[in-house]
Amino acid sequence: MTLSCQGTGVGSQRQIAIGPAHLLPGGEVKISPRWVTASETDDELRRFARAMRDTRGELRAIREQIPEDTPSDIAAFIDTHLLILEDNALTSAVESLIRDEGCAAEWALQLRREALLKVFDAIADPYLRTRRDDINHLINQVLKQLTGQARQIVDANSLDGTIVIGHDISPADIFVLKHHQIAGLVTELGGPMSHTAILANSLGIPAVVGAHHVAELLREGELIILDAHNGAVIAEADSTILAWFQRRLAAEHGDQASLHALLSTAAITRDDIEIELLANIELPEDVALVHESGADGIGLYRTEWLFMNRDTPPDEEEHLAAYQRLLEGMDGKPVVFRTLDLGADKWCENLGNQGCRNPALGLRAIRLCLTEPEIFMPQLRALLRASALGPMRIMIPMLSSVEEIRQVRALITGAQRQLRRDGLRYDPNIAIGGMIEVPAAALICDLLARELDFLSIGTNDLIQYTLAIDRMDEEVTYLYDPAHPAILQLVRNIIRAGNEADIPVSMCGEMAGETRYTRLLLGLGLTRFSMQPSAILPVKRLLLNSDASECNRMIRVACASNDADIIRGVIEDLNEI
Ligand code: PEP
Ligand code: MG
Repeated sequence: MTLSCQGTGVGSQRQIAIGPAHLLPGGEVKISPRWVTASETDDELRRFARAMRDTRGELRAIREQIPEDTPSDIAAFIDTHLLILEDNALTSAVESLIRDEGCAAEWALQLRREALLKVFDAIADPYLRTRRDDINHLINQVLKQLTGQARQIVDANSLDGTIVIGHDISPADIFVLKHHQIAGLVTELGGPMSHTAILANSLGIPAVVGAHHVAELLREGELIILDAHNGAVIAEADSTILAWFQRRLAAEHGDQASLHALLSTAAITRDDIEIELLANIELPEDVALVHESGADGIGLYRTEWLFMNRDTPPDEEEHLAAYQRLLEGMDGKPVVFRTLDLGADKWCENLGNQGCRNPALGLRAIRLCLTEPEIFMPQLRALLRASALGPMRIMIPMLSSVEEIRQVRALITGAQRQLRRDGLRYDPNIAIGGMIEVPAAALICDLLARELDFLSIGTNDLIQYTLAIDRMDEEVTYLYDPAHPAILQLVRNIIRAGNEADIPVSMCGEMAGETRYTRLLLGLGLTRFSMQPSAILPVKRLLLNSDASECNRMIRVACASNDADIIRGVIEDLNEI
């Protein structure tokens, strides 16, 4: 009997994967009370020591796999976990529960876990809460060793060709996955615009997110089919279904070869409109993906990764080293560096606003930076210094007012003055742009455009805020509609404001990389698209076969009608031309 589990598909270029399921260690291990006799306590102590040692060994193995050019914060994150495992507060209390109370090793560890978590739960501080999660996660790993449930993501060879299934995927896990040839990825949590999904997409593999309880339905190693187009995970497929998906997979491989032939073709529409295709990336090492995609440059470099998995923010030199590495890797192609956009979906251990009641509406992104200049200024100084090294621009996220732009410009002027005084070089004419991702900014974008050198439409957040749906919450994914008439009105407004101010407008939200909307956006007048590297060639192929003025003619009346059904119908028609 064929089993199928539903989530939401992610994956612009590749949509089908067939391979063995590899279940990542997921939910919490449940432990029942168990005691041992006095003669058995030494064995239990030894079992506990062995489990601790194996868990440390597992972490060290991950650490050793990290290539040298990886940001130091990733290794530091693992070091922190190793230190927690070596802490007496964890080990000695467990040992005395075994020795003095006769608890079995896993029951003693479970009691210690409950006691430690109770202490953390009584503290409101968001930083300490993430440490609570670290401890919980690590104890879970040790319990898995003790109960024989340990499965290792570090076993690199076992990952290749598999479809990896995780409850949620941590940054460390994504990092490990990035270095292996996995066939697909499935998570039980997360919507398609969650950061996990965006990262999964950056792996260039098909993925399904928000597939609730999928791990409970699958067995390790069984052959499964992942269909990102329909958001489905299929197990126990009969031979007819399997053969049908194998044909689709083969067709997809063939399609990739034909896409590859477009690598050096310029993206020019049939009516001679030149389109700039740019890449969104997260890490300097992703530069290789940018070259493989034939992108004209980087339209969005998310700098948050520099701040993650560490205890203190990076200093100016660390920022500069990362930016320099990226610019050098780009061989003269331009890069748009987005300033720190921490908070809400992009939180990290010791910064960001995860603890506040409503993180997406709180002190995040540029608001956080303007409140904490000691974090922002090292980044601004480093960005300005990097501007002497290669073509680049600075982009401000989450703008909602003209005043915020003026404050940033004042800080930049101050930083430039300092750099001159320090005898350090920078480009005095560096372009400063802003992301339009808050409805207020979209509505006053004519005013913002007068203060900025370029605009970039961040549809991931613009849709979240305009339609009032949490992009992290898979329960409301069904409402996430880039073609909602309200969104299209705002997008049109932003493109028009940019044209009137004579400044470039790009789109860097995920909508820009979805081929379903390519012709719609072309018809709205968009000529700069920034997306996951893997989406660039499919979008290019469509653009080469499109006529911008015909797209414009087809959508004008539909968009003006604000009728969702008419708009949907026109999108279908556009994609059938
Ligand atoms: C966006 O909001 O559309 C965007 C590109 O930024 P992020 O996804 O990083 O919030
Ligand atoms: Mg955003």
